[in-house]
Amino acid sequence: MKRLPYYSSSFHGIVRGETIDKCWACHKSLNSSLLHSTKELKLFINNEFVDAVGKKTFPVINPSTEEVICHVAEGGEADVNKAVKAARAAFSYDAPWRTMDASERALLMFKLCDLLERDINYLASLDTLDNGKPFTESLGDLDYSIKTIRYYAGWCDKIHGTTVPCDGPYMCMTRREPVGVVGQIIPWNYPAMMLAWKWGPALAAGCTIVLKPAELTPLSALYIAALAKEAGFPPGVVNVVPGLGQGAGQAVTHHPDIDKVAFTGSTAVGRKVMGAASASNLKRVTMELGGKSPIVVCEDCGDLNAAAELCHSAMFNNHGQNCCAGSRTFVHASIYDEFIKLAVQFAKKRPVGDPFQEGILQGPQVSQLQMERVLGYIEKGKAEGATLACGGSRKGTKGYFIEPTVFCDVVDDMTIAKEEIFGPVQVILKYRTLDEVIKRSNETEYGLASGIITKDLDKALMYAQAVRAGSVWINCYDLCLPQTPFGGYKQSGHGRELGEEGLAEYLETKTILIKVPSKL
Ligand code: NAD
Ligand code: MN
Repeated sequence: MKRLPYYSSSFHGIVRGETIDKCWACHKSLNSSLLHSTKELKLFINNEFVDAVGKKTFPVINPSTEEVICHVAEGGEADVNKAVKAARAAFSYDAPWRTMDASERALLMFKLCDLLERDINYLASLDTLDNGKPFTESLGDLDYSIKTIRYYAGWCDKIHGTTVPCDGPYMCMTRREPVGVVGQIIPWNYPAMMLAWKWGPALAAGCTIVLKPAELTPLSALYIAALAKEAGFPPGVVNVVPGLGQGAGQAVTHHPDIDKVAFTGSTAVGRKVMGAASASNLKRVTMELGGKSPIVVCEDCGDLNAAAELCHSAMFNNHGQNCCAGSRTFVHASIYDEFIKLAVQFAKKRPVGDPFQEGILQGPQVSQLQMERVLGYIEKGKAEGATLACGGSRKGTKGYFIEPTVFCDVVDDMTIAKEEIFGPVQVILKYRTLDEVIKRSNETEYGLASGIITKDLDKALMYAQAVRAGSVWINCYDLCLPQTPFGGYKQSGHGRELGEEGLAEYLETKTILIKVPSKL
């Protein structure tokens, strides 16, 4: 089996976990006793698991089987209020979280990572059960999540201000301080990993957190909350309130006592998040939204088979449910026909099925709605005149599986070339010159990522400078490393995640001036 990019060497064997009971059993054998053994999962507020004020729950579905895994408490406005109160109290200047040494904060984060590592098989089982991604990929996500939080833990006691030579008899220093209580709203495509991207910098900065996981995948976040308690985080530092976008999500974005919202999800909801910030307390907003990222295969790409394989994984990884998926494959006219053949071969042999089975690279789409949306785009592609080269249908009748699909002869104004499909559908376009492909790459409202495959460094660097996107990958794709900033141009978002820039989004700068007498 192919080694995954973030595949952990510490992983010993695969846990099969088709049912939540098996997972609970696995969890018990891992000897962590914090999560309730009932099938009813609760909100995590102030270091306690509690029912929703309104006593509501919602079902969590396994997309491989369409069965209900369990029910989870559904948080609403009243619950978000409680969580914000706890987070605000934990952020008080004299509270333990604010008075402990920054190096102590780092130790708590490292401890959390040790616990994530201890329970990595269990957590990966939860994400596979809930999201449908192959178990080995869930493991890869977790391995990478741990690396991300460890990276940020290292920052805790290295967040420096400056001394500023300024006019007048004053000494000036700046302090970098946590922005405060942060709301974090995350999507379902990388459940544990999106939490890690958000918690890492927020905790390193010293913020307190109210996280709303996606309603389609709330399980791993609740379990990680239990681990945070076990690690010793003071009450109120992290709170997890599962619920719907319309309920808990909106309550977070409109809350008058949340200082910042970090959001990852669709552009449509991103618009609402900014609107809510504007209508409430002008809270800071960072967001990572969708994309329609170009990946360009030049005539001098070298090994065409390797190029086709890279474009294949750029598109099909995570079932195409990836914000920076290489979802517009631009191929030079001179190699176009040969490339299509290879792309179809890779798509046809992609193993689709039970995500707990070894060797499977593609499980189901996350939900019935997402499956139907993707199938809708496939129909649109056919209706608008693109050539369906392979796939195109649902696979089987149970579970939300879709055949890996390739469209060729696509032109720029077709819907499938413009909108984010978020599914296993490769869209291949033909180009002739570098100028042309730069222009076409940029003709989109998005600007999240881009890629180019060429042996010509001049060409690669020209493209890298000209493309308006937050990431450019040359002869590689989809590398979002803990150390490197990631985020969007244009309507792909505001702000950056990961790296030092990701940390800065959780900091305010305070300027302190001291009068220095000219003589004593
Ligand atoms: P979404 O934007 O509706 O959901 C993302 C998160 O936002 C979830 O936690 C959801 O509960 C929350 N949310 C929804 N409405 C909200 C509101 N009014 N206020 C506050 N929070 C709200 O995404 P979706 O409907 O699950 O997926 C639809 C499309 O979004 C996908 O097909 C894809 O194109 C895009 N998407 C992008 C990403 C990404 O990584 N950038 C992730 C998921 C989905
Ligand atoms: Mn689910």
